[in-house]
Amino acid sequence: MADMCANCRNYWEQRGTSAGLCRAHPPVLVPSDGTARWPGVARSDWCGEYRIIPPPENPGIRRAVAL
Ligand code: SF4
Repeated sequence: MADMCANCRNYWEQRGTSAGLCRAHPPVLVPSDGTARWPGVARSDWCGEYRIIPPPENPGIRRAVAL
């Protein structure tokens, strides 16, 4: 899996769009309108705070270990 925003656990994307927001840190103040927003990023972007999305849990494996 490529190290890029689309594969990062900090990335958020609204369905039907091809770009998203980086939620690695709190929203940043936009002085021009007084709002706070997360930075916009492209799916193919990347930064040093990239964090891989953990694999989904497999409840079957957990059950087998607990027995
Ligand atoms: S900018 Fe960095 S931390 Fe944010 S979504 Fe992209 S890779 Fe992840």
